[in-house]
Amino acid sequence: MSHPLWSGDFYNEGTGKDDIFDTLKEECGVFGVYGHSDAASLSYYGLHSLQHRGEESCGMCVADGKEFNYHRGMGLVKEVFDKERMASLVGNMSIGHVRYSTSGDSRLANAQPLIFKYRDGDLAIATNGNIVNAPQIRHELEQSGSIFQTTSDTEVVAHLIARSSKDVVEAAKDALARIVGGYAFLIMTNDKLLVASDPHGLRPITMGKLGESYIFSSESCALETIGAELLRDIQPGELLVLDKDGLKEDRYTEPQRKALCAMEYIYFARPDSDLNGSNLHASRKRMGSRMALEAFVDADIVTGVPDSSISAAIGYAEQTGIPYELGLIKNKYTGRTFIQPSQELREKGVKMKLSAVRGVVEGQRVVMIDDSIVRGTTCLRIVNLLREAGATEVHVRITSPPFKNPCYYGIDTPDRKELIASNKTVEEICREINADSLAFLSPEGLISAVGGDNASDPSGGLCLACFNNDYPTTLDFDGEEKAGCGC
Ligand code: AMP
Ligand code: SF4
Repeated sequence: MSHPLWSGDFYNEGTGKDDIFDTLKEECGVFGVYGHSDAASLSYYGLHSLQHRGEESCGMCVADGKEFNYHRGMGLVKEVFDKERMASLVGNMSIGHVRYSTSGDSRLANAQPLIFKYRDGDLAIATNGNIVNAPQIRHELEQSGSIFQTTSDTEVVAHLIARSSKDVVEAAKDALARIVGGYAFLIMTNDKLLVASDPHGLRPITMGKLGESYIFSSESCALETIGAELLRDIQPGELLVLDKDGLKEDRYTEPQRKALCAMEYIYFARPDSDLNGSNLHASRKRMGSRMALEAFVDADIVTGVPDSSISAAIGYAEQTGIPYELGLIKNKYTGRTFIQPSQELREKGVKMKLSAVRGVVEGQRVVMIDDSIVRGTTCLRIVNLLREAGATEVHVRITSPPFKNPCYYGIDTPDRKELIASNKTVEEICREINADSLAFLSPEGLISAVGGDNASDPSGGLCLACFNNDYPTTLDFDGEEKAGCGC
């Protein structure tokens, strides 16, 4: 079904002026197709594979050469797109998005792709990440007459493109050169697809090929799902342009220090994805085995918090010879616990989501592997679950360094004051989470586990800012810089 576009600067269903004051807190995934007669079906399966990156809303926009056909909705991909809707999404080029909200402002207005009508036709944009200087640019644009209708950073980029007198590729280059942050962008017009990564490559985005078609995805697991071959990661500062002349590998700026988000390795990405040429499951296993070398503790069983820490727990078990057991089971029919907006609900969410297996842990000394401690709430609940199920000792091993600083590049994190490691020592955290012992993986251990090149770059090509406060970009924008996610 084709929707009429609003004939002003932009059209975004359900948006209103008041939305400008909302705060957004989410992580996201993007998926793009160029040159396939059934771009919508490929996007459906691609977005479904990226569902772990965003469960709140999703959308896709398909171009048939003349107009955009699009749909966005609240909920999971399988809920938002039914058979009828899919049949209406005709075209050979598409961009899609899954959005993950952790706050209460769950609304269709924030679903992507955002669709705009501008001088040269239609424009759709899907993004994953955050623009740190978005408030400053927005302010400048508003001063010179732009009217914003969403809170999304994406709209800042759309305005910059729309106001330029250059063609869309040159206008996009200028717009991307102005923004500072961590992002992956998919920008579509009626006849072009543009793909961009920030100058540090903070947010992942990969390119694959399916026959003669090009596919772009936040994670390679979605390429595998549709049978596409992984070609490579989009490089920092790159701008790829796909149109009737084929693929043009261009760039809008020189690459800067590579700083791929370490939390993608630690927690976000699916274990069957590859990041920077390495499989995630294998990287997480190495984190677990390195953890065992750095902080061995004698115990009867090793267990991992599902799903993200299973690989690391297997690595820890292999390294120590302590058997790996399924001490915790996840109920797969509930969302991630962060989806609950309040602390109280988050605590309840953990209980809904996880159970300890009494028959496995009763009377046992347990090493419990988890990926990270942010507020500390989840860990306390899980340690207590294991104790209630009869574990005699619970030793917690976290396969990341202490999380002390907020993220400005697209990962939702609470204020610094709520980050437990920012305010407490390891011993204090250990007491707080009711563990018998606690250890965190060292930054060096993390870098070596993911195969980072420590020799030429002390950060090994990673962003580690939430652990070491070393932010790859400037953050100084007259106190207006923006943390979290801007999708
Ligand atoms: P907590 O310490 O209670 O804040 O929760 C930490 C747990 O939440 C980790 O073990 C991860 O599984 C998960 N987690 C970590 N960072 C995030 C994030 N930015 N968004 C959603 N979940 C996260
Ligand atoms: Fe990732 Fe942390 Fe860097 Fe944010 S600050 S991009 S969460 S490593």
